[in-house]
Amino acid sequence: MTSSEEHFDLVTIGAGSGGVRASRFAASLYGVKVACVELPFGFIASENVGGAGGTCVIRGCVPKKLLVYGAAFGEEIADARGFGWAVGGGGGEGDEAATPTHDWSSLMKLKSKEIQRLNTTYGNILRSAGVTFVEGRGAILDPQTVEVTAPDGSKRLLRAKNVLIATGGVATKIPIEGAEHAIISDDALALESLPDGPIAVLGAGYIATEFAGIFRGTHRHAVHLLFRGDKVLRGFDEECRQQVQENLVRRGIVTHPNCKPTRIEKLGEGQLVLHYVNAEGAELQLPVAMVLMATGRKPRVEGIGLEAVGVELDAAGAIKVDEFSRTNVPGIWAVGDVTNRINLTPVALMEGMAFAKSAFGGELTKPDYRDVASAVFCQPPLATVGYTEEQAIKEFSGNIDVYVSRFRPMKYTISGRDEKTLMKLVVHAESDKVLGCHMVGPDAPEIMQGLAVALKCGARKAQFDSTVGIHPSAAEEFVTMRTRTRTLPGTGTSKL
Ligand code: NDP
Repeated sequence: MTSSEEHFDLVTIGAGSGGVRASRFAASLYGVKVACVELPFGFIASENVGGAGGTCVIRGCVPKKLLVYGAAFGEEIADARGFGWAVGGGGGEGDEAATPTHDWSSLMKLKSKEIQRLNTTYGNILRSAGVTFVEGRGAILDPQTVEVTAPDGSKRLLRAKNVLIATGGVATKIPIEGAEHAIISDDALALESLPDGPIAVLGAGYIATEFAGIFRGTHRHAVHLLFRGDKVLRGFDEECRQQVQENLVRRGIVTHPNCKPTRIEKLGEGQLVLHYVNAEGAELQLPVAMVLMATGRKPRVEGIGLEAVGVELDAAGAIKVDEFSRTNVPGIWAVGDVTNRINLTPVALMEGMAFAKSAFGGELTKPDYRDVASAVFCQPPLATVGYTEEQAIKEFSGNIDVYVSRFRPMKYTISGRDEKTLMKLVVHAESDKVLGCHMVGPDAPEIMQGLAVALKCGARKAQFDSTVGIHPSAAEEFVTMRTRTRTLPGTGTSKL
């Protein structure tokens, strides 16, 4: 039963990265009356579970990064021995005391506490910006009405001239027999303990490579990575993909390229058999204790009343929007992963801000998708901004100069770790404009953020060259690459 009806300038459905940013900016910058609707908090998303902060904060970027930090200490401990530290014993071969052990459950308890704190903070951020936070499930009844069903079943009607959909996305499973025995990233980020046996991770994208590293760093059993392509991280620069793949193998992850999972058989608790077909067409079996499917995400469009008002979806099931985040229904807008543009938190933030300005700032504003930097937190991480070598060749006419530097980081010369850092610049020869920067190695995301500013400013290679390096650092390599590794003819038509 409807108990109340309230009037706002904006009702946002979803308090994740895009929804919170848009609501906050609309209220605090443009002084409009905003309500933001979100499901009650929980670690694993479902029809009735969500939480302020959304995927990034509760079951994505933030908890993942905490686990990446946790997993990386093993490597630090190993490297420390090379620097004379006797960690947990003499460190000699067979010295059991020297083998560091990790307690997953204590890490998870601390992770969960931090995520709950952040969830509260996100609610407070909204409230202190003057946004009315409404807990419950929001569904659009007509273009200016959102009905919210609270956890206790009571209903509220929120009316506004503008409705913003920012419901994000959900992890998907590949439809094979026994898929119900596999977990998804939400579950992996909430696991109370690791299973007593090998883990298989399916997929080779962001989430798969990041979790392969987390499990490898914390788990005492084998970690397998199975994927359908010949290399991990499709879409990234080819040389970087190769480097990441080599690093995964060198760090002990068992990679299975060109594989197609066909079935998951459950023999008992923590006893699974993953059936798959390999590159040669042979049907193989892998006994494991857990299977993580990291095989993509899809926009969360169900149950929010889109059909009722005729909001159009694209072929991938995402909400169709124009360059200003407007749907086909006047007054209904959408930002973030539910629109499946570039599915990254900082992009959702940008879309949220552009929306607020378009809707309430009196200026239609397009998000700017040029030179969006991103990082994959595999170990060591990959970070990138701008064109890959392959994209640059396809896009531009004229020659493309490529500068590549592959070296052993200084720290490893003493620690003995056998791993190379890769740095790469892609340059348009005629204009000297730097089209892309790529790195696989420690601190790559921290370094790449600064280079993203340079690219956004249209930096030329000569300006990289005239920049004085910080010595000794890995980052200085980006401004000291003087010798072209190769020049390739562009096959595209774009000019600079
Ligand atoms: P990705 O798109 O990165 O990777 C999906 C993987 O699943 C690919 O390896 C893909 O293979 C594989 N796959 C898809 N369908 C099938 C299938 N039917 N059978 C076998 N394999 C399949 O998605 P993720 O789930 O890793 O991440 C989702 C998005 O979330 C990312 O695209 C990114 O935008 C965002 N994200 C960002 C992070 C960051 O910024 N660090 C971290 C995590 C997520 P193929 O390549 O062959 O298609």
